[in-house]
Amino acid sequence: MGREDRSLGRRGSWITDDPVKNFEKWKRKYNKTKKIVKRVQKTTKKRDWEVERENIQKLVKKYSEINPKEAVKFSDFPLSKKTLKGLLEAQYRQPTEIQRQTIGFTLQGRDVLGAAKTGSGKTLAFLIPILECLYREQWTAMDGLGALIISPTRELAYQTYEVLRKVGKNHEFSAGLVIGGKDLKDESEKIHRTNIVICTPGRLLQHMDETATFHASNLHMLVLDEADRILDMGFTDTLNAIVENLPTTRQTLLFSATQTRSVRDLARLSLKNPEYVWVHEQAKFSTPATLEQNYVVCELHQKVNMLFSFMRSHLKKKIIVFFACCKEVQYLFRVFCRLRPGISILALHGKQQQMKRVEVYNDFVHKTSAVLFATDIAARGLDFPAVNWVLQFDCPEDANTYIHRVGRTARYKEGGEALLVLLPSEENGMIAQLQEKKVPINKIKVNPEKLVCVQQKLDAFLAQEKEQKERAQRCFVSYLRSVYLMKNKDVFDVFQLKLPEYAMSLGLAVAPRVRFLNKAQQQKSGVAQDDSGAAGRVSEDELKSFTAQLKGECSKSQSSQSEEEEEDDDDEEKESLKPAALLCGFNEEDEDDQKDLDLLTVKRKDVFNINEENAKAKNKKQKESKFTDAKKMQKKNFKVNTKKIFTEDGEVVQQWPPLQRAVVPDEEEDEETSGINMEAAKERLRKEDQEFDKIEYRRKIKEKHRVRLTEVVAYLSGADEEFDPSTLPDPDKVCNSESSEEEEGHSSDRGGKKRSFSSEDDDSDDEVQQTQVGRKKPRKESTATPLDTGLSLAEDEELVLHLLGSHS
Ligand code: ADP
Ligand code: MG
Repeated sequence: MGREDRSLGRRGSWITDDPVKNFEKWKRKYNKTKKIVKRVQKTTKKRDWEVERENIQKLVKKYSEINPKEAVKFSDFPLSKKTLKGLLEAQYRQPTEIQRQTIGFTLQGRDVLGAAKTGSGKTLAFLIPILECLYREQWTAMDGLGALIISPTRELAYQTYEVLRKVGKNHEFSAGLVIGGKDLKDESEKIHRTNIVICTPGRLLQHMDETATFHASNLHMLVLDEADRILDMGFTDTLNAIVENLPTTRQTLLFSATQTRSVRDLARLSLKNPEYVWVHEQAKFSTPATLEQNYVVCELHQKVNMLFSFMRSHLKKKIIVFFACCKEVQYLFRVFCRLRPGISILALHGKQQQMKRVEVYNDFVHKTSAVLFATDIAARGLDFPAVNWVLQFDCPEDANTYIHRVGRTARYKEGGEALLVLLPSEENGMIAQLQEKKVPINKIKVNPEKLVCVQQKLDAFLAQEKEQKERAQRCFVSYLRSVYLMKNKDVFDVFQLKLPEYAMSLGLAVAPRVRFLNKAQQQKSGVAQDDSGAAGRVSEDELKSFTAQLKGECSKSQSSQSEEEEEDDDDEEKESLKPAALLCGFNEEDEDDQKDLDLLTVKRKDVFNINEENAKAKNKKQKESKFTDAKKMQKKNFKVNTKKIFTEDGEVVQQWPPLQRAVVPDEEEDEETSGINMEAAKERLRKEDQEFDKIEYRRKIKEKHRVRLTEVVAYLSGADEEFDPSTLPDPDKVCNSESSEEEEGHSSDRGGKKRSFSSEDDDSDDEVQQTQVGRKKPRKESTATPLDTGLSLAEDEELVLHLLGSHS
């Protein structure tokens, strides 16, 4: 047996009689085999990038098979796992129509001109292809600028950037927001290392012109969002210059809700064999189906009353009110805050500092009920969630502007309402334009007798405060100028406006002299005399040359006025110093009146929610206890502590709140003939502002030394945390060194919670040049800088006490 066993062992295998030996032998063999397997594996194992490349090839192969009609989910498109994951995490599952129809073409590398209604999801229609393009190219930080998105406004650029961070967070690309910055050099060092740049046209061209290192030779994709607006804003030359600097091999996408001839021209010139995707071309209407649109005809001098009445009857809504010009927003924002309509008011316009704009933007995004007073900078693209109403206080320039303004509500399947306020002289021309553009709008009526009249209160405010009066005057002149400069003379006829009544409705006793109008009037009548055949109309050429002249004047006066208009947060403080009776727009009696009124009667429907809101207000009133009444009364009598010191001569000097306007001595105003001596007022304001600017400048310089510079780099993959607007620079200061914009923008009707003291904070941002969003660490560093109000410790204490007081 032993022999047999041994022979078996020798013949058939290594197995012996000794189990221990057997085991050891087996172990040796096993280890040897394992080593061989490992070696083989090592030589055949693919590296990650190779796997990725294979995946990419698989995806690219599927591009030609894309069938948009069958695509129901995003995953039906050959998109990278990283993009799909990002979309899913951001709760985007099914593509919208514009996304469905364009994604295929864009993935295939085609140029696209995409048009779809407001709120239909155009942003993702270009962000997804950008992510996929760079993924396909296995783009890295070393490859530099790969995609460029140009937006007409800073707010839209910022919003797009936020969406990109959300959906692109699983990719490793870097993204930057280039909407201005002080040190172009510093910015340019980063811009070419940023993979996806979102910018406004002016700033980009500045880089192209002034930054030697800036080059976009690797650029793969160019996107123009709201392309027609970019062109309308006078950026045609800028755009042409930009496009000339980009490689012709790039892919170009143009998107907008409205198409103009200029966009088609641009498409013709800058797109190669483009695919025109007009999603709603066959649609019956050009505005969202869920949007209810009405208009009212209202005399100019009744508009303020109407707005106030509207706000009073929509206290729980989120509303955007569009105005024709910044100065209207500035003035009406101030006085409406004082009227205490019972709803928070915010203001957004181009004369605010960038930081303030971002702050207001974010604030309005997060509010559930508030009114945003805005100029057309808020008309394009902005996606404020859950806006209930868009009220157009002033007639839009044209039907396209109308469509974009109302497009701020009724976004992505949501409902919304829009009300357009037209002057009798604007009605026919504007409505004809809207009908031509397929806008379904109905006329409703307002009963003028039922409007709440706020004129007396405005009179009282203006009598109390010279600054307010000056604002009212600027508002008056600016509005007339904006009407005068409108191209469409069939709609906008400045000579038909009743100026004295309008002035009175703003609280002005006398209409300010408007020199350009007098001049235009003279020209007009002169031409009428010279040329009877022209039936009193100014010849086109003359009007053009005069308008050009005027525009020149305007831009000149604009820049000097931007100084004039410097407004600071102290103003809001000063409000609190006024006697309670004046401040309080609505005393108890008013409120009772308010409830009893059926405020505004309308023909078709209760647009102003009069019945509903009044009933609610009534119920609420009944529930109010004596305690809340007492609290209210207390609030009305609230006064801010003032700090006064005595000079050696025994003169009393107020130290806190600081009085800005005391720098230059007051001069008598000659208001007898024209209501106000504008020239003298301007001169005085200019002097005052110069003095104030000097003090401010010194303070800012000091502050700068305190600021620690932080370097920020943006990576999409680090995009989980909330964007910190303090990482944004203040571009206004760059482009317009003399511009010292006002700090207004916030008002909380309930005790002025949002008193803004951020101007000090804003200024401290001067040296953070790069507009990119940072990774967690550097950003934390920057936000950890304590808020410096620029005041002394004692003043700081006063400030804190005041804030605490106003919160209680
Ligand atoms: P547009 O640029 O066409 O005006 P946006 O891109 O701003 O529209 O999108 C409007 C809204 O629709 C945004 O709130 C966005 O989050 C939402 N949205 C876009 N695409 C989708 C989608 N596929 N699924 C769900 N919501 C979407
Ligand atoms: Mg958009």
